[in-house]
Amino acid sequence: MRRLIRMAAPATLLAVIILAMSCATTGPGGQKSFILVSTEQEISIGQQMDQQVRGSEKILADTAWQNYVNDVGRKIVSTTERSDLPFQFAVIESDQVNAFATPGGYVYFYTGILRTCDKEAELVAVMAHEISHVVARHGVKRLQTVMGAEIVLSLALGGKSEMTQSLAETALGIVMQGYSRSQENEADNFGVTYMTRSGYDPNGTILMFEKLVQSGDGGTAGIFESLTSSHPDTQDRINKTKAEIAAMKPLPAGLSMDSQRYQQLRKRLPAAAKASATP
Ligand SMILES: [Zn+2]
Repeated sequence: MRRLIRMAAPATLLAVIILAMSCATTGPGGQKSFILVSTEQEISIGQQMDQQVRGSEKILADTAWQNYVNDVGRKIVSTTERSDLPFQFAVIESDQVNAFATPGGYVYFYTGILRTCDKEAELVAVMAHEISHVVARHGVKRLQTVMGAEIVLSLALGGKSEMTQSLAETALGIVMQGYSRSQENEADNFGVTYMTRSGYDPNGTILMFEKLVQSGDGGTAGIFESLTSSHPDTQDRINKTKAEIAAMKPLPAGLSMDSQRYQQLRKRLPAAAKASATP
């Protein structure tokens, strides 16, 4: 009898753990998804990825800019369904027109994309998009798909350091490769909701996308993490976003498109290394 109980215990424990882990909020209105990686583990993976990023990229040595992205970033985060996650934002000195986020809420912006954003709401659109990938747990979901749920679960139940190291290595590759088209569309969609909730004009998203169309490649090359062919066509993103904004009307009064603080900071951005730099 005692032996039976002993044998049953791990299976019961496993069932409890799976149940506890498996249902997580992943979007506005309390959307749920099947997630095996706990928030604590996700943060550990993010911390490890952050160390890798900081080891290989040059962080912009300007406290005013670092404070700014954290102030605005956290303001947006506070309106999301994962406002409890300790997000960290950082500016990387690089001409790439890009931004990306890791699981656990580490978000990075290249100076190349900051130079492209003439108005604050354009940068807020990029921020809200990246934050949305984290809220929707897109990185974690792709980890589960790429590694297989069984492997993720066994790593999650195994030693903590072994788990995070293995997952973090795979996760960085996934984030740099970009997400699926449907995940990109979802991040655009959530981003517009979050930036409006935060008091910013969601039309900043349209301005940002239109700039990409004008950038000379027809807007088909991606920004936001990815240069892969799976990235949605920019014109399609514009159409979908316009439709979403139209459906939200009337928009709240007093939404902000720009700020003095942002314009002051723009003057402090380091010059591009190459005048003709392209992403
Ligand atoms: Zn994206």
